[in-house]
Amino acid sequence: MTSYIKIKNHINGQWLDETNGQYEPLKNPSTGAVIGEVPLSSVETSRAAVAAAADAFPAWSATPLPKRMDYIFKMQQAMKDNLEMLAESIAVDQAKHIAEARGEVGRVIEILQMACTIPALIQGETVQGIANNINGRLIKAPLGVFCGVAPFNFPALVFGWFIPFAIGTGNTFVYKPSTESPLFMQKMMQLLVDIGLPDGVVNIVHGDREAVEAWYDDDNVAGVCLVGSTPTAKAIAEGCGRHGKKTMLLGGAKNFAAVMEDAPMDLMIENILMSGYGSAGQRCLAISNIAVVPEIYDEFIERLLEASRTVKVGDAMDPDAFMGPVISAKAKARVENYIEIGQKEGATLLLDGRNPDVADANKDGYFVGPTIFTDVTPCMQIAREEIFGPVLSIMKVGCINGALRAIKNHEMGNGAVIFTQNSFYTEKFINEADVGMVGVNVGICAPHPYLPFGGIKGSLVGNNKVQGKDAVDFFTQNKVATVRVVDPKAGQQAPAAAGDSNVRSCVAS
Ligand code: NAD
Repeated sequence: MTSYIKIKNHINGQWLDETNGQYEPLKNPSTGAVIGEVPLSSVETSRAAVAAAADAFPAWSATPLPKRMDYIFKMQQAMKDNLEMLAESIAVDQAKHIAEARGEVGRVIEILQMACTIPALIQGETVQGIANNINGRLIKAPLGVFCGVAPFNFPALVFGWFIPFAIGTGNTFVYKPSTESPLFMQKMMQLLVDIGLPDGVVNIVHGDREAVEAWYDDDNVAGVCLVGSTPTAKAIAEGCGRHGKKTMLLGGAKNFAAVMEDAPMDLMIENILMSGYGSAGQRCLAISNIAVVPEIYDEFIERLLEASRTVKVGDAMDPDAFMGPVISAKAKARVENYIEIGQKEGATLLLDGRNPDVADANKDGYFVGPTIFTDVTPCMQIAREEIFGPVLSIMKVGCINGALRAIKNHEMGNGAVIFTQNSFYTEKFINEADVGMVGVNVGICAPHPYLPFGGIKGSLVGNNKVQGKDAVDFFTQNKVATVRVVDPKAGQQAPAAAGDSNVRSCVAS
């Protein structure tokens, strides 16, 4: 992993240098060192990838379903066999701590298991005898070429959310990873080549928004999916909407935890540490705001502070570290700026994560340590905006209704969790928390791959969510056939008898 990494596009089975566009440096956020370069692909390159996917579509969509599923099984086995190599690729350029990177790859392996149920989920419906000799049949058909755009923080997971479901249902794909974490897909694409996936079924184009905007008016593109910030989701919704393309767009987040008086303290502290500081807070399901009832407020703050002080910040490959750096110098500056904003708007900075102690080799890395604000109110900027760093904002609420009100009034609606042993609070929270994903006594309320994943309100643009049956529905279209069966020996069927209204309405409409 020490040699210079030249990230390449992969189009129609070929690894290609970007000849028309530019390159930008690829950095290791744990050290700040330049470790390679990433192409900023041109519009022409992006369109060439779509053309390759379109050329591959007829043969791929006609490939028998069991054969397509064979590739998904092989993909899963290849990931199991190469788990460590794939996890390291995430730990190097995204600087997700190696233990969490292994967890991310493990989750994709589970998603692939779910994708192997496509043969059951893609089954259509038949209604026999909607008129004499006429049957109705619904087919779930592939659409053509889908394109996908990934955020920096989950390079493997987002691959798993999009590609197995898109190609398993018979579509072909063009994928644009984030320029900040392209290495996983370079490694994964080679595994797809190694398992013999036909050329053009999956294509990779690296770059930024230009590569994505090239898809909006491309007639070969059936739809675009994104996981990213809400402004990016809205930009893609507009671009695709103008040209009538399908979209699946997961946006940003700002997640709440509600801490009730009977919260299981040890379990809760462990989960809040993992959720708030894991991935250096750069997770769409990271806990960010914590609403605490008065009965437990002081004890909670004391325990959280004590535990947060033990969190070791360090190189993403250091097995003893708990959390790595944030993704870039720009992200570090943004998080530090929010810490200043919090102080200016009157919150109490209980633990300041700026300039944490790290090893000499990591002095130029982009580290921010655990940070805790207390005396936060829901209308403060640090409580409203997505900081995307290891910063916890704690607010006191009178009771569960105060926590639910703060969640309802927030424009984002990705996830929210409650810590309690009381079944009334549990059920009330599940029913009333105005978010897409609810957790009870868990830090990260990520649904299992058998179920859909996605928020509501500002965290989701449109309606489509990833994973589960929703993914199969998104990547297919419902096509309905009306079939009149004619007996070849009897010749052409006689016209409908007078009064046979079913036949007449069926033929007329
Ligand atoms: P981002 O929106 O800056 O970029 C995401 C991707 O979109 C990148 O590949 C980028 O190149 C591309 N892009 C950026 N601007 C674009 C534009 N105008 N048009 C087309 N493409 C564009 O997000 P990020 O900083 O990479 O990732 C962090 C964000 O992603 C956070 O807001 C986080 O909450 C969100 N996220 C959400 C989920 C979820 O499940 N809802 C999961 C992971 C991350």
